Amino acid sequence: MASNITVTGARENNLRDVSLSLPKGKIVVFTGVSGSGKSSVVFDTIAVESRRQLNETFTWYVRNRLPKYERPLVDAIDDLSVAIVVDQKPIGGNVRSTVGTMTDIYSIVRVLFSRYGVPSAGPATAYSFNDPAGMCPTCDGVGKTVRLDLDRAIDWSKSLNGGALRVPGSSVGSWQWKLYAHNDLFDPDKPLADYTPEERERLLYGARGADGTKVTLRMKSGTAEVDSEGLVNRFERLFLKRDTGSLSAKSREAADALTVEGVCEACEGARLNEAARKSRIDGLSVRNYVSMEVADLVEVLARIDDPVAAPIAAAARERLERLVGIGLGYLSLDRETTSLSGGEGQRLKMVRHLGSALTGLTYIFDEPSVGLHPRDVGRLNDLLVRLRDKGNTVLVVEHDPDVMAVADHVVDLGPGAGVDGGHVVFEGTVAELREADTLTGRCLRRRTPLKEAFRSPTGWLPVTGADLHNLKGVDTAFPTGVLTVVTGVAGSGKSTLVSEVFTAAHPEAIVIDQGSIGVSSRSTPATYVGIMDTVRKLFAQENGVSAALFSFNSTGACGTCAGRGVLFTDLAFMDPVTTVCPQCEGRRFDDEVLEHRLDGLSIVDVLELPVDRAREFFQEVSVVRKLETLHEVGLGYLTLGQPLSSLSGGERQRIKLATQLHRTGSVYVLDEPTTGLHLADVDTLVALLDRLVDAGNSVICVEHNLDVVKRADWVIDLGPDGGKHGGEIVFEGTPDDLMDHHKSFTATYLRRDLG
Ligand code: ADP
Ligand code: ADP
Ligand code: ZN
Ligand code: ZN
Repeated sequence: MASNITVTGARENNLRDVSLSLPKGKIVVFTGVSGSGKSSVVFDTIAVESRRQLNETFTWYVRNRLPKYERPLVDAIDDLSVAIVVDQKPIGGNVRSTVGTMTDIYSIVRVLFSRYGVPSAGPATAYSFNDPAGMCPTCDGVGKTVRLDLDRAIDWSKSLNGGALRVPGSSVGSWQWKLYAHNDLFDPDKPLADYTPEERERLLYGARGADGTKVTLRMKSGTAEVDSEGLVNRFERLFLKRDTGSLSAKSREAADALTVEGVCEACEGARLNEAARKSRIDGLSVRNYVSMEVADLVEVLARIDDPVAAPIAAAARERLERLVGIGLGYLSLDRETTSLSGGEGQRLKMVRHLGSALTGLTYIFDEPSVGLHPRDVGRLNDLLVRLRDKGNTVLVVEHDPDVMAVADHVVDLGPGAGVDGGHVVFEGTVAELREADTLTGRCLRRRTPLKEAFRSPTGWLPVTGADLHNLKGVDTAFPTGVLTVVTGVAGSGKSTLVSEVFTAAHPEAIVIDQGSIGVSSRSTPATYVGIMDTVRKLFAQENGVSAALFSFNSTGACGTCAGRGVLFTDLAFMDPVTTVCPQCEGRRFDDEVLEHRLDGLSIVDVLELPVDRAREFFQEVSVVRKLETLHEVGLGYLTLGQPLSSLSGGERQRIKLATQLHRTGSVYVLDEPTTGLHLADVDTLVALLDRLVDAGNSVICVEHNLDVVKRADWVIDLGPDGGKHGGEIVFEGTPDDLMDHHKSFTATYLRRDLG
């Protein structure tokens, strides 16, 4: 077997004929400023080619049914092994996907209960909430039900005649209202609050039992016997049980406003039917097992010593320990995967692969340190090393020097970003990189000092009695007019405090997250900052034609791809595949449109200009000013026409920041803004945050990066540990005072860093 993966002449995106030789069975870390081309090498070239080559090994018949991967722009890639990408894309799935099901640990718990639980509910499917044999019949194994919220559906202080009913279609005089107001069961003038328990039951759930289920309705034409259904039952039948697609948007909205999602009353959220819920092992139910923290479950399983059960318990423990080992011990098996952060999801996926017996694969990670406190990075490194030692090649895109430290080989891309990048500027060991004359090398040698003067708060935004998730009645206040950094190990409660509690208490805060930008697939940096109208007008004036011609959602657009430049093929069972439009070859416009020039450039040429070149190309002050905001957030390397969908999470966050630069008096909340940022880019980011504060804004960041912590005016440190061992404020004050703190992990690592 060859000992290297060789890449020859890679030219995806900004890559300039990159050739590389990557040692197999080693950890290779890719470094470089954001936009230098790391993802272009690792994801767009190596991973894509691996998938394509894998597809080619199938028969023609199978291949015709698989997505077609375009060959990446590369002369050759040799001795590539099967690549597995472990990224931060949210773990899809639905309410049925939990930490337990995703890691397969739940299936071991099921086997354990079926063999050893008392009384046993039967075989292992009897404990599966995704199987009719085990699921709670009330909630179908979801653990939650949607119910009519009686306090919103009824105004108890009013009578039926006075308009007590607020359910859609039950206004005074309506047919539904008559069902209650025109019979002998209720006094239509009595406030509902004064109903007897029996009356109340009949109103809500209908007449039942001895009285029969029919009621006599008084109508103009005489009387009629109708089924007494009750308000709640009727609502459920019409709005909850019915295929909701058949309701009008208006009724849907009105009904939604009256419902609450709550824990299923039958199973109390356990998702299981009664037989499975009753079963116990040493007094603990399946529910107890899946709702406790993973770290505690390890202890519980260790106490099982029955000869039949112990090997099963040991199998579950081994997997649980991997979760603990990667710093996820604070999660519980019943946690829905859709509620996990990107970093947590990536680590969970990683754990799944550690259990695999396959070797000789190429694993590809995208900044696995995201969301990890310096304390937890060591554990991450252990996992990377173990994957390697099982005989795999591990490729990692990473900015954290602590992760770089375990690399056997480093590839540094640069020297700059975008058109100024795309070269391999260094290849070798980490020790050699530390001596190298590249931006990364220089950054590794320098040390950021602690800020000397801290800004004084201009006021305080309080949060009191916060007890969501693991928070233990936190009382604190966030200072205004300064840069505040919220720190703490993973799972300590930072996001809960900042993104949930604080933003709910202070809705005026502006959250700048890394989530997608809710715009069309045709959006680009140019449309996002709003310069395209002017650009189109300039083209129109210069060429004496209509400005609309230069828009890729109108007349000038390529007819084949409707101006998208790519064609989407939707495959039911896989990710949709995009291929470059064969008509316009990705240029998005009709050929004729390209004849029109502005200072020698066609509209496509202009859209291919990086922001920093475009700043020189245009003279219009309004355009230049808007482009400058992109430069200031460090995105000067993006081209004007690059689809926003190609931006990374960190880039998305910064482009959102760009549109905020000229505001004042706002409170900004950012979750880990250094994601995707090179050590050198962190300086630019902090300078930007400083500028926002100096302009009279307040900035609050959740952040692990010590170089940011050192430049905060105020630190709120949560902990001491994750999950139930966290949720308290360990320290609040200036970074200077934090240095002297002896219980905070953040303080420990800060002292180590400033050494
Ligand atoms: P890194 O991973 O080092 O941050 P990338 O490989 O993502 O850098 O990007 C390298 C360059 O290629 C950047 O200028 C980026 O804007 C550009 N680029 C990335 N993806 C696309 C794309 N789909 N279309 C056009 N340009 C892209
Ligand atoms: P941090 O941001 O410091 O990593 P989080 O605020 O995400 O920590 O989590 C704090 C605690 O709250 C953890 O125990 C975590 O498992 C729990 N938690 C976070 N989000 C949810 C959720 N949506 N449902 C249940 N528990 C949650
Ligand atoms: Zn239930
Ligand atoms: Zn086209």
